Amino acid sequence: THFGFKEVPEKKKEDLVGQVFANVASKYDLMNDIMSLGIHRLWKNYFINSLAPGPDTKLIDVAGGSGDIAISFLKYCHKTYTSSSPHVTIVDINQQMLSVASSRLESLPYPKSEYTLLLSNAESLSPVPSDSFDAYTIAFGIRNCTHISRVLSEAYRVLKPGGRFMCLEFAPKQSLAIIEKLYDVYSFDVIPVIGQVIAQDRDSYQYLVESIRKFPQQEQFAEMIKNAGFVVMGKGWTDLSFGVSAIHEGFKI
Ligand code: SAM
Repeated sequence: THFGFKEVPEKKKEDLVGQVFANVASKYDLMNDIMSLGIHRLWKNYFINSLAPGPDTKLIDVAGGSGDIAISFLKYCHKTYTSSSPHVTIVDINQQMLSVASSRLESLPYPKSEYTLLLSNAESLSPVPSDSFDAYTIAFGIRNCTHISRVLSEAYRVLKPGGRFMCLEFAPKQSLAIIEKLYDVYSFDVIPVIGQVIAQDRDSYQYLVESIRKFPQQEQFAEMIKNAGFVVMGKGWTDLSFGVSAIHEGFKI
């Protein structure tokens, strides 16, 4: 345990995660901005710019939540190309989060033919055919999944040969000691209190903090990605904001 947190038994984890996101769905976007001081927007922009989708990229955004990545993706394609036909499939295990994504997308000028919402578990994307996407993204989602290796092998399966896997996630290993200290105080003392005040739900945010600490460190996660069959370039990841977050990627060759 860290700082007195109770360990969550694995079989309970799925229920707990479901409950956390059902509880926070309506406050989710506001909470992200407050807790990350708006920095999650910079990370997500960097993420989509690194993905650099083409005009016809078919993307599957897993654990897509309220749709931030899908929306940035469509924005990028329409801004960059005069003629484009992108498509994004947003997958989430939680209907409330998908409903938030759906109403946000409906308020934007993108045709309905450019996105699909799919209620499914990242660990078994059974409705999704193999070899069907150019890119797979998962942002701040994989640490909520019970079996990371199942998520990775499903990612590998649904990508076309040549397809690209990209994961944006909080990382447990900071690259500077001072950041480590600040991060400890902020995540263990400040975030649960903000969760209580804004979302009236301290436990959910305490869970989120704990889930970041338990996630494999950058080196280990890169190994898991290779074990799923992906080919990685260089060490396989890029640290963002001194390792508070990281982007991991791999290709299905
Ligand atoms: N990608 C979005 C973003 O960056 O704003 C949402 C991230 S949110 C922190 C995590 C999302 O993962 C939630 O919407 C939750 O419902 C979803 N999730 C959790 N476990 C999942 C699973 N096993 N399969 C699919 N989605 C899952």
